[in-house]
Amino acid sequence: MQITRSKALFEKAKNYIPGGVNSPVRAFRAVGGDPIFIKRADGAFIYDEDDNAYIELINSWGPMILGHNHPMIREAVIKAMENGTSFGAPTAREVEIAELITHMVPSVEKVRMVNSGTEATMSAIRVARGFTGRDKFIKMEGHYHGHGDSFLISAGSGAITMGNPDSPGVTKGTAKDTLLAPYNDLEAIEKLVRANKNEIAAIILEPVPGNMGLAIPQKGYLEGLRKICDREGIVLIFDEVMTGFRLAKGGAQELFGVSPDMTTLGKIIGGGMPVGAYGGKREIMEHVSPAGPVYQAGTLSGNPIAMAAGLTMLNYLNEHPEVYNQLNEIGNKLTQGIRKSLDKLGLKYTINHLGSMYSLFFTGQQVFDFNSAKQSNTVLFGKYFQEMLKRGIYLAPSQFESLFLSTALTDELIQKILHANEESLIALH
Ligand code: PLP
Repeated sequence: MQITRSKALFEKAKNYIPGGVNSPVRAFRAVGGDPIFIKRADGAFIYDEDDNAYIELINSWGPMILGHNHPMIREAVIKAMENGTSFGAPTAREVEIAELITHMVPSVEKVRMVNSGTEATMSAIRVARGFTGRDKFIKMEGHYHGHGDSFLISAGSGAITMGNPDSPGVTKGTAKDTLLAPYNDLEAIEKLVRANKNEIAAIILEPVPGNMGLAIPQKGYLEGLRKICDREGIVLIFDEVMTGFRLAKGGAQELFGVSPDMTTLGKIIGGGMPVGAYGGKREIMEHVSPAGPVYQAGTLSGNPIAMAAGLTMLNYLNEHPEVYNQLNEIGNKLTQGIRKSLDKLGLKYTINHLGSMYSLFFTGQQVFDFNSAKQSNTVLFGKYFQEMLKRGIYLAPSQFESLFLSTALTDELIQKILHANEESLIALH
């Protein structure tokens, strides 16, 4: 495998773009080596600028659940473009997608479209504050909700990888209203709630966090949060930017049977275009401008091309629930195969897996919160990443990320991944 154009592009990019990339984790800092620059993608494969092919296990960090360049979505985008690219005015498609979202995610009675997951979470917190008249909110250690100031406090994902979870530029004034709790620890939440009685507007969390690597909610945890929020008049926000339309048609809330007051969405909702959304109970969302006083707006929100891609994706998932069985099966085959190799090689690493998301942690300990995730050997992960890349498998370039599977992974490709995985593990030890 020859990588020359990517290297040259990265050198040039560093002159004009901070760190050479438009989102930090893409720079491969956590795994060493230079990033590969992507020219095109199709189905289960992406191709770099040197025309090397890689089997995809990131899928644009989640959105491409049906694989890349799906003809159905491509055609919807091309057709929509024939009528113009942006109007900055209401369209029929926005009404259609809003209705569909409320159908697929029943806890969402009203929804506002935005352009990214970051916008969705920032706006949801503002609305929760406006609704309750309270300033503080609780977030979980290692959970990532985009790069809004108030979330860059013990954030997961790229923020861990870059070693700056508390980013310069976030004021102390902002940070003081973000209260931190460990994930999967109801007692810690009870303590915070007692110490900040009637001051907490919201609890926001990834119900199934993917941004410290994948962790699973312990039995009763999400239900426990629901009870505390009901008792204390706190808005429970599930950040389902990753898990929405992925773990089930109705996201993690459907899978675990716990209904939040508000939900934030992104990734799959745009079919690969820049889209996010936040929504929730009618009485909460009625506070959003112009229905209510909480301001939130966007020049390109509800963009007609983005809506065409998103609507096509969501309609497909809504009409083909069998996709989720297919994804579960792909996830099972892959993770069972990896476990088998680990056993065969006598390695005691941990795999967390749910549906079409999984993480292989280079630690023998169970991973259920941020502290346990951080026990992983990140140097070993970096080596594993490079070994897999050499063998044509494209993983997330950080230990603290989930992988995202697509329906484009055939049995033959799964076998190729498993073969590369075993060879890579052998090469490490
Ligand atoms: N929330 C979660 C759970 C995410 O995983 C992400 C991004 O990975 C975001 C919010 C931010 O979304 P975006 O990158 O579209 O701003």
